[in-house]
Amino acid sequence: MTVTAGNRPIGSSVPSRILIDSRFCGRLRAVPTATDFEQLLRGASLRVTRPRVAVLSVVHDHPHADTDSIIGLVRGELGDVSHQAVYDVLRALTASGLVRRIQPMGSVARYETRVADNHHHVVCRSCGAIADVDCAVGEAPCLAASDDNGFVIDEAEIIYWGLCPGCSAVSS
Ligand SMILES: [Zn+2]
Ligand SMILES: [Zn+2]
Ligand SMILES: [Zn+2]
Repeated sequence: MTVTAGNRPIGSSVPSRILIDSRFCGRLRAVPTATDFEQLLRGASLRVTRPRVAVLSVVHDHPHADTDSIIGLVRGELGDVSHQAVYDVLRALTASGLVRRIQPMGSVARYETRVADNHHHVVCRSCGAIADVDCAVGEAPCLAASDDNGFVIDEAEIIYWGLCPGCSAVSS
């Protein structure tokens, strides 16, 4: 029996970088349309609904938005949508891997559509601003453990803390 992934035999030489990029970024053009989001949902075996498309689009346009902002923006697009509906959509999108949920210490949960690239975040201790930081290594786990305690380690969760440009200008 031959095991295949799509039309390609497993083990054929596909650079892993391309596989990582194509999981999400490669399927989205610079300004994605509703159709692009519908395709992403279908690719993740999620039924296409207006709230799901709206939430994906809002999170894509507002990286690191929190739940309240997302609810406000989705309501701006769709009219009346319940908190619970948006929570449910965020949970489904996160579980399917289309959306990544981050929650730095002291912050509420925040969401982004930049997934599967092991990027990190830098958080301002003063105002809570968050920015993306590309992983210097490129894949998880990007920090060697001095002792793995027998665990098979697959990720090091890294958050850089400091002061953003605005806050460091005020405090100096
Ligand atoms: Zn700041
Ligand atoms: Zn991010
Ligand atoms: Zn890294």
